[in-house]
Amino acid sequence: MIHSTVILGSTGSIGRQSAAVCERLGIRVPAIAANRNVELLLKQAETFRPDYVSAADPQANRELREALRGRDITVGPPGEEGLRIAASWPGAECVVTAVSGAIGLRPTLDAIYSGRRIALANKETLVCAGSIVMRAAAECGAEIVPVDSEHSAIFQCLTGRKGELRRILLTGSGGPFRGWTREQTASVTPEQAVRHPNWAMGAKISVDSATMMNKGLEFIEAMHLFGVTPDEIEVLIHPESVVHSAVELVDGTVIAQLGVPDMALPIQYALTWPEREPSASKRLDLTALAGLSFMKPDMEKMPCLALAMDCARRGGNAAAVMSAANEAAVGLFLGRRLGYNQIYESVSAALSHIDFIAEPSLEDILESDSAAREFIKEHYT
Ligand code: NDP
Ligand code: MG
Repeated sequence: MIHSTVILGSTGSIGRQSAAVCERLGIRVPAIAANRNVELLLKQAETFRPDYVSAADPQANRELREALRGRDITVGPPGEEGLRIAASWPGAECVVTAVSGAIGLRPTLDAIYSGRRIALANKETLVCAGSIVMRAAAECGAEIVPVDSEHSAIFQCLTGRKGELRRILLTGSGGPFRGWTREQTASVTPEQAVRHPNWAMGAKISVDSATMMNKGLEFIEAMHLFGVTPDEIEVLIHPESVVHSAVELVDGTVIAQLGVPDMALPIQYALTWPEREPSASKRLDLTALAGLSFMKPDMEKMPCLALAMDCARRGGNAAAVMSAANEAAVGLFLGRRLGYNQIYESVSAALSHIDFIAEPSLEDILESDSAAREFIKEHYT
């Protein structure tokens, strides 16, 4: 178990739950960073007495600086730099990456270069630059322990089973609009899209869960984390969200991880691994379940999942373009400037428009990311 961790995105859904786990387990939090929620950053600063706090938004950064004047706490600069300093803050054993979006990429690499354990929630980082991130982690001996519930499940199922994996069974609830036709989803509002049946999450990932882009991002995340090909991952729709994912081993044995849908569990495991500690989560009562069902995804009704699986096969910068375009499109949808079905259409258009690069460098990835965002802004606002 680790004894100190930085939390990037400490005010978000995963960030707040990570802070609660740290408080309960007595894990020190020397640095926290977020974007604009100054009120919560200040509360967290009271709780954890960190050495370092930062807010990326310039106005929030000024307010934070003012509020902490005269205190023995370093206030980081605004922008990405504030996150990057937190990511490599001296003395921390781990970094929880709980910011949303590709903004997590460079700070995650900084944490890896500093040899920290990465408790990885920020899936967009692996989606856009998985090969670069995994290579850096191997070179620096940095452990990457997944927080995403499916990947935590797979990680737990595979512990001690190196070389025995035949395929991954990646489960997903199917989101709030499972079975809806394109005509039915045309008028979906942001309020409807962020209401997930089983999980309470940040706005962006809730929309991704509704469009099934989230499962597509997780498909790519799993390829990188576990070093498998697209053909070695099967997506299964499992509306009850009890089996968080499973692995099929070479002899046909299937090992699954089950639990209540509560992110505090995978967060805690990423911090205590390879040990386990008692948790505050509800316990799973198998006898209370009406049943567990599994079905193949209807790819016609889940075009974002199909698109992501196609990007997974294409490799190169395709997933980086897709993920950045999706971030921009979801942002517009949440601001009511884009229709729900246009999320898929705009991401697909960005992929056709932006040049494919087979072996992208980090610079190429960052440029592809900007080009995709620019494309969405130009054509859809
Ligand atoms: P939220 O939107 O709830 O939180 C995002 C956090 O990142 C907030 O602290 C926010 O700060 C901060 N942030 C956003 N933009 C910036 C920026 N430019 N610079 C610095 N900080 C920034 O997201 P979630 O917690 O839901 O998700 C976080 C990540 O975890 C995502 O990658 C998601 O895919 C992944 N994940 C989430 C799950 C969940 O259950 N929520 C499950 C599995 C994975 P502020 O509050 O100040 O705006
Ligand atoms: Mg997940």
